Amino acid sequence: MSDRVAVMQPGPGLKGFVCPPQVPTKGERHEVDHCLSKCVHPCVAEPLIAAIYHANVRNPHKGAYLSASMIAGSNCMRKTHYERLDPAGHYELIRNVYWPFRGTIAHKVIEDRGDEAFHLTQFMQEITMRVPLVFPDRPAPIFTDDGLWTGEYDPTKPLIIELGGTCDAYSPWKLKLYDFKTMADAKARMVIEQGKIEPNWIVQMNIYRYLIANTEISEKDREEFRKHGLPDLPGTHYPAPETLRIQGIGMMEIPLTGQGYVMQRQWQQNDIPPIPVMTLEETEALIRDRAIAWFDALVLGIKPPVVEDDRSWMCKSCSFNGEVIEGERCFPKKERSADTFEGEPKEEWRKVQDAGGTYVDPAEKPKKPRKPRATKKKKEKPLDDFLG
Ligand code: SF4
Repeated sequence: MSDRVAVMQPGPGLKGFVCPPQVPTKGERHEVDHCLSKCVHPCVAEPLIAAIYHANVRNPHKGAYLSASMIAGSNCMRKTHYERLDPAGHYELIRNVYWPFRGTIAHKVIEDRGDEAFHLTQFMQEITMRVPLVFPDRPAPIFTDDGLWTGEYDPTKPLIIELGGTCDAYSPWKLKLYDFKTMADAKARMVIEQGKIEPNWIVQMNIYRYLIANTEISEKDREEFRKHGLPDLPGTHYPAPETLRIQGIGMMEIPLTGQGYVMQRQWQQNDIPPIPVMTLEETEALIRDRAIAWFDALVLGIKPPVVEDDRSWMCKSCSFNGEVIEGERCFPKKERSADTFEGEPKEEWRKVQDAGGTYVDPAEKPKKPRKPRATKKKKEKPLDDFLG
């Protein structure tokens, strides 16, 4: 039995789909085999359902570790808790899983072409990284050989959580890191016209930077560099990138952070703010706080609270929302307005969480009002504006 804790996925994950409102079986749950071969009024073409399902169950971001995107706060912790731990599996509205699928398509196409052009671009793509985080103040939970927590701890060993992530494109020669984000054009316009960069994008990019700086350069990679005529790298680990950029991929617009951009059918240039670079120490402190919260929710199975008010838009299309889908288990509005959580006064519960350094929700931090950006002047945003 290993004392290293990888976050496990005890439930079977996605089992099938919830019928959407436009079909007569609205709200019914069916396993994917039914959707593919028995449904008489499929809501989406069966080959597309098969592809979406396949991509979802094979998605490496689901399952084996705490990913950078989880720690960055892109997902509802309660939702992920349900997805991972429900031994009966879960069912999704197909439109919810289509979005990550659309991103997968774009990433795959870029990755394939990028590999061919590696000797020219000098960008490595889809590097998978894993870094252990040691918590000497917490005992290691004891797991079964299947990776399920037995409910016991080994006080002689520290808790070790593995943090993983796959970065889209990184050049150790240009010290630049790109993350490709598919987005609706409305979102792309917000990035371009209002300089609206999501706080979780900043955290995610800085987590990738941290993972890169803690990743050893393998002999296999060095061999690959030689094969492509690229210079060898000094040192044992990859150098931390100095420039972090989000490449937005919309339907019509392709904004790049830290860069001027002229939209389709316009001549006015908007400057998109750069992604701030945190120190590796700042990033590690943030990672450690949040990793513990996710560890509690996904490995120890402690139910986390619903998302806070200013991220309640996540609940609108959530397939666990019992206030929208009959028979489901989460009641976010009711829970948000209640004074207690899990039988404890809410305030008390939060104090317990904070004492363990377990939950740092950006929604709880004071925010400075942001004016709409109509300016063309490029301006560095201080880190505090994003992280509170
Ligand atoms: S309904 Fe809202 S709080 Fe509940 S799991 Fe879904 S997104 Fe999270």
